[in-house]
Amino acid sequence: MATNRKFKELIHRHRTHFLAHKTRPYSFRLNQLKNLLKLYEENNDLILSSLKNDMNKSKLEAYLYEVDFMKNDVRMAIKYLKNWMKETKLKMNLLMPMDDAGIVGEPEGVVLILSPWNYPFQLTLIPLCAAIASGNCVVIKPSEISPHSSKTIATLIPRYLDTDCYSVVEGGPDVVGALLEEKFDHIFYTGSFTVAREIHRMANKYLTKCTFELGGKSPVYLDSTVDVTMAAKRIMWGKCINVGQTCVAPDYVICTKSMETKFLTAAKLAMDEWYGPDWKKAEDLARIVNLRHFHRVKDLLLSGGEVGLGGKWDEEELWIEPSVVVNVKETDKIMTDEIFGPLLAIYNVESEDEAIEFINSRPSKPLCLYVFSASKATMKRFRDETQSGTMAFNDTIVQFAVDELPFGGIGESGHGYYHGKFGFDEFTHFKGIVYRDYSWIGDQVGIFRYPPYSALKIKILSFLLCHWKKFKFIYFDYFGEIFLFLAGFFVAWWVFQL
Ligand code: NAD
Repeated sequence: MATNRKFKELIHRHRTHFLAHKTRPYSFRLNQLKNLLKLYEENNDLILSSLKNDMNKSKLEAYLYEVDFMKNDVRMAIKYLKNWMKETKLKMNLLMPMDDAGIVGEPEGVVLILSPWNYPFQLTLIPLCAAIASGNCVVIKPSEISPHSSKTIATLIPRYLDTDCYSVVEGGPDVVGALLEEKFDHIFYTGSFTVAREIHRMANKYLTKCTFELGGKSPVYLDSTVDVTMAAKRIMWGKCINVGQTCVAPDYVICTKSMETKFLTAAKLAMDEWYGPDWKKAEDLARIVNLRHFHRVKDLLLSGGEVGLGGKWDEEELWIEPSVVVNVKETDKIMTDEIFGPLLAIYNVESEDEAIEFINSRPSKPLCLYVFSASKATMKRFRDETQSGTMAFNDTIVQFAVDELPFGGIGESGHGYYHGKFGFDEFTHFKGIVYRDYSWIGDQVGIFRYPPYSALKIKILSFLLCHWKKFKFIYFDYFGEIFLFLAGFFVAWWVFQL
C-alpha cells in the first residue's frame, strides 16, 4: 500500500513537471542528453564491473555492446535533436490554397521503461535516450535479475539527470504490478512474450500505448553456395556473444545434411581458435545469468536430438558449453521454445523452398532472420517471401549496429521500433495541424462550402475534392497565392451572381 502511494506521488510529480512544460524546450532536452553522455563517459568502470558481477560479461562485450553502443546512440540524438524536433511543413495545393499545414511532434507525457537483464544498460538507457529526446518524463524499472546493473542505474541516473523528470524504481513483478496501477502515457517493454501479455493486460486499464520489444526464435538459412568457414565463424560469433543470452542471437540453422557436416567441422575449428582447447577457461565467454535459466537451458539441451558439438555443463559455475544440437524434430522443445542460451539447433531440409515454407509455418514470426547465400536470387526470395522483425544476409547480429535502421519485431516478436530517429518517433505523438487563412480573401476561396447549397457549388467542391491531386504540380508559394487570390475572388464573385 505504501509502495502504491509512493509511486502515485512519484508519477504525479513527473506529470506536474511535464504539464509545466519543463521537458519541452530544446535546451532542456539537449542538456539532459549531454548529461547522459557524461554518465557513460565517467562511469565506464562501474558499468563494466556491474556486468561482470551479474553475468561475467567480458570487458570487450561490455564495452562494445553496451557502453560504446549507448555513447553512439546519445551522440546521434545530440547531433540531430534540433532537426528531429522541427515542424514538417506541407506544401499546400488547390484544395486549401491560402492555408498552411504542418506536422508537429509532441511528447507523450510520462512514460515507463521496463527492461530485461541480458543487456541491462543498453536496453534501459537507449529507450531512455529516445524518451528524453522526444521531451517526455520517464520512470525506469530495470530487471531485478541483473541486480548489480539495476543498482548502478538507480544510483547514477539521479546524479546526472533532472530528478523532477526522470526516476528509477527497482524491483520485480510486484513492483511492475504496483506501477501499472497508475496511468502512464506509454509503456516501453523489452522482455519475453509471456510477460508482455501480462503487461498488455494491465496497460489496458488506461488503454496505454505499448511498445513491445520481444524475442522468439531467429532462424539462419545456410545454403551450399557459401564459404562455410566464414559462415560458421559469423554464426558461432553471434551465438557466443553473452553466451547466446541475446535476443537477436541465431537460434537454429536450417540446412541440408551435407552442409551440416561441413558446418560442424568449421564451427569446431573456429571455437578452438577463439577459446582454446577448453572453452570453459576462456575469459571471453560469459556465464548463464542464474540457476533458473541454467536449468531451463540445460533442459533444452536434453530435450531432443543429439549433441554435434560441445554439450558439457557445470552447475556450480552456471556454465553451459556453446553446443550444436543435430537431428532435431520440429516438435522438440529446442525447436519450439526460445533458446536464449548457448545452444544452436540444426534442422535439416532438402531445398530452399522447404526452408521458406518451414520459416513461414512457424507459429511466431522471427525477431531476426539470417540468410547465408551467394545467390542474389536466393537473397531476393527470402527477403520477399518471409516475414521477420529485421534481416541480415551473410552475417548475424550486425543489423543491430546500424543506427539508421529501425529495430523492432513483428507479430509475436514485438511491435514498435526504436534506435536513432525511430526511437524519437516512437515516443512522439505526431500532431497534424492546419493553419487556416483568416482574411476575407481566404474566406472567399472557400465560400462554396457554405449553405445554401447549389448544384454548381457541389460540382465545384466535388471537383476540387476529387481532382485536386491532378493539380499537385501547382504549389502555392508567393506567386501562386497571388494567382489564387485573383482566381478565388473571380470564382466567388461569379458564384454570388447565381
Ligand atoms: P522478462 O519478461 O522476464 O522481464 C522483463 C521485465 O519484466 C523485467 O523488468 C521484469 O522485472 C518484468 N517482469 C517479469 N515478470 C513479470 C510479471 N509477471 N509481471 C510484470 N512484470 C514482470 O524478460 P527477461 O527474462 O528479463 O528477458 C528475456 C526475454 O527478453 C527474452 O524473451 C528475450 O528474447 C527478450 N529480449 C528482447 C529484446 C529485444 O530487443 N527485442 C532484447 C532483450 C531481450
